[in-house]
Amino acid sequence: MKYYSLHKKSPNVSFQEAVVYGLAPDKGLYFPENITPLSSDFIQNLDSYSNEEIAYEAIKQFVGDEIPSTDLKEIISETLSFDFPVLPIDAQTHTLELFHGPTMAFKDVGARFMARCLGYFNKGTSENVTVLVATSGDTGGAVADGFLGVKGVEVVILYPSGKVSDIQEKQLTTLGQNITALEVNGVFDDCQDMVKTAFLDKDIQRTLTSANSINIARWLPQMFYFFFAYKQVYRKHKEVVFSVPSGNFGNICAGVMAQKLGLPIKHFVAATNINDTVPNYLVKGTYDPKPSKATISNAMDVGNPSNFIRIQELFGHNFEALKNSFSSYSFTDSQTKDAMKFIYSNHNYVADPHGAVGYLGAKEYQKTNTNAICIFLETAHPVKFLDTVKDTLGVDIAIPTQITTVINKEKKSIKTQSYEDLKDFLNTENVLT
Ligand SMILES: *Cc1c(COP(=O)(O)O)cnc(C)c1O
Repeated sequence: MKYYSLHKKSPNVSFQEAVVYGLAPDKGLYFPENITPLSSDFIQNLDSYSNEEIAYEAIKQFVGDEIPSTDLKEIISETLSFDFPVLPIDAQTHTLELFHGPTMAFKDVGARFMARCLGYFNKGTSENVTVLVATSGDTGGAVADGFLGVKGVEVVILYPSGKVSDIQEKQLTTLGQNITALEVNGVFDDCQDMVKTAFLDKDIQRTLTSANSINIARWLPQMFYFFFAYKQVYRKHKEVVFSVPSGNFGNICAGVMAQKLGLPIKHFVAATNINDTVPNYLVKGTYDPKPSKATISNAMDVGNPSNFIRIQELFGHNFEALKNSFSSYSFTDSQTKDAMKFIYSNHNYVADPHGAVGYLGAKEYQKTNTNAICIFLETAHPVKFLDTVKDTLGVDIAIPTQITTVINKEKKSIKTQSYEDLKDFLNTENVLT
């Protein structure tokens, strides 16, 4: 499979090149040249296949012959070694829990898949690759865990000091081996700027790659769990709608890809917090990105969602076609907290702030559409946002084993004040010698 840059000013590349480069030289996102739907027989009999078999069918055309099928199947089976349950909340609304992986956020799926692909491509070479990533919370932990111990790959994570939760910090800073955490004196945008500068800096003597959701190997595997959710409900409910709590719009964009592959999804709801660039676009028709605003669903504090351009590409840049299958609504923190309380007191379910935004999106859609079943994505375990959940619901949450194993480990980070510190680190330190 070849990939083109959405800016159309760079040469087409292979799957491997798209994974290693992350972004095209013209700064465009990579996009597959062809998308061939799966057979309707396969979709109609989805519940006779295992998750691994479904994932393999969904992804194989995008990898092509660049990873042999036995290796690809092994990568998939290692990536998906946990559950993706759909649970009923009320008669018309279900939740798809995506937090049963090692760092308890949906980003585990993409990070684990990407790490293993990069590990595969790296096997035959002596050159090391450095994954450089900025995180506002969940990405760093998922990437650290996904890449831990992958040979030939060194991971450097920049995070804003004091701006991530205690659990998230432990997930970034306690693993050791090929993972290094740089604790930046600043906010997330500073970390992001340093990463961007490093990618353009000709004096950096290392091969750098990114592991943000713009990378196709993180984005595409997120299709899998739309199939897994559909598989669990389609015999009972004919029309299925997904409500996806969205920040950078990678997750929902993968859902649209699943639909392109023939999964009969009736409609998508992109639920956002007050970072409402896309909801405004769908109302006004003008795309007007803004600086991000801080909210309690902080993994979605994105003012200019990178992957929205891929969604437009999938709809052929046709505004009416987009609006027919895709809605987007924005919600405030106080609406989010009210939803968390409502879900807890009426349905005895503890939702995290991101999942609660997804629930609100489902409810908004159901105001005018009564037939379909809405599945909202629960993108992180509530324990990852412990303070908000405790304050809002007044409940204690049992700490799952994935978290207890890191919480008592010793934090190790390197204090980083400026871009020069990062550059020094990259040009002098070399963990993998
Ligand atoms: C990253 C993240 C999101 C947003 O996903 P996008 O693909 O960026 O839209 C939502 N919820 C949680 C918990 C996240 O970590």
